[in-house]
Amino acid sequence: MEIKLFNGLHDRLETFKPIQPGKVTMYVCGPTVYDYVHIGNLRPLVVFDVLKKLFIALGYQVHHVSNYTDIDDRIIEKAQKEKVDEATIAKRYIQAYQEDVAKMNALLPNQTPTVTEHLQAMITFIGKLIKDGFAYKTPSGDVFFRVNKVKNYGQLSHVDIHENKIGARVEVNPDKENPFDFVLWKHTTQGIKFSAPFGEGRPGWHTECVVMIKETFKQTLIDIHGGGFDLKFPHHENEMAQAQVAYQSRLANYWLHNGFINLNAEKMSKSTGNIFLAKDFLSTYSGPLLRYVLLATHYRMPVNISPLIIDNAQQELKKIQIGVAQIASYIQLQGASINNQKATPPASFLATLADDINTSNALTIIHQYLKEANGLLRQSHPPLDILLNRFFTIQAMLSILGLAIEFPILTTEDHQLYKDYLQAKSNQNFGRSDEIRKILHQRNILF
Ligand SMILES: [Zn+2]
Repeated sequence: MEIKLFNGLHDRLETFKPIQPGKVTMYVCGPTVYDYVHIGNLRPLVVFDVLKKLFIALGYQVHHVSNYTDIDDRIIEKAQKEKVDEATIAKRYIQAYQEDVAKMNALLPNQTPTVTEHLQAMITFIGKLIKDGFAYKTPSGDVFFRVNKVKNYGQLSHVDIHENKIGARVEVNPDKENPFDFVLWKHTTQGIKFSAPFGEGRPGWHTECVVMIKETFKQTLIDIHGGGFDLKFPHHENEMAQAQVAYQSRLANYWLHNGFINLNAEKMSKSTGNIFLAKDFLSTYSGPLLRYVLLATHYRMPVNISPLIIDNAQQELKKIQIGVAQIASYIQLQGASINNQKATPPASFLATLADDINTSNALTIIHQYLKEANGLLRQSHPPLDILLNRFFTIQAMLSILGLAIEFPILTTEDHQLYKDYLQAKSNQNFGRSDEIRKILHQRNILF
């Protein structure tokens, strides 16, 4: 099946062609672990998890890597404030993030490298850039990347280094040769620092992903590089610039970016305080609900979190939960097993996801299947074989979207109650049958 993805490198939909047939290499920029993440930080987690599950369903072998930035000024600042070391802070928030990931029912990456683990490789990498004239040391001890040396700097984000328009995202520093030059090694006096041939300090953020890609995939060009849209510039542009001069590679063939999350019509951002922490959302609501909210909108469009959006998603998710529970109960009451039957999702469902990850359409298809199954259940003799098939097909679709929907597993007592209910009905003992019906209703078995 042809997979089309919106490639941020050319700003158009392109047919996915893997470097190696049947295999996908995918790197997604992970969190900087200085605090609890907000729900916006979980959007790439969900988007790339669905993409990964789609690839797996289509028979691809996926090598998925996502990093933790465990060395950063914000981590150093927090460590000093709490009078602990940086590793304590990083460990705490990596653990918290992993708890969120588990609640979101996302597949774990094959590797989760950290800066700490790859420090030596980063030092060697920066040293080589200096030696080859692609980086320079300033009087204050920082090492900067020389963007003037990259022929097509700006090819990803379309910034123009000759335009001299210094935006808010380019740091002003008189030591820089070009305002777009970015730090590879930061001379630091505070907090954790490492020694390198070019001085004591810590590595810059843009270098870690370039180095980790080579270290983890053992290759300098991968298929997919992903992250939030705000990473396109400067982070991804700067990653690509380094890869171009160091590896003569554009680092990835497909650059995918997910849209922002707004909270009550304003961009969600730590700096403005307009945030909804993932852990708070997950304890107030649930993982499946957050997934539903995120999947209901196309990944490149903004999601506006509001009470109305949450409410709508709750209702839609409830429809799925009730629909699945109804079929599951019926199947079990008929004495059939609902365990582990493998089913493939319908081609239309896979095709809609293969069309640039159209998750909102994919949800519509699930609702259509449930509606049809509901119609079958209303027949005087619901066809068990068709319902079994629908049940496993719906499960297969939900599993690709990562929506873990619980359904009742009937006990011997439940089965007995159901028998008693049928018996009471055939004896025309309607008082008794109503009584049992109520119990079965409460147990989510009869509806
Ligand atoms: Zn990155």
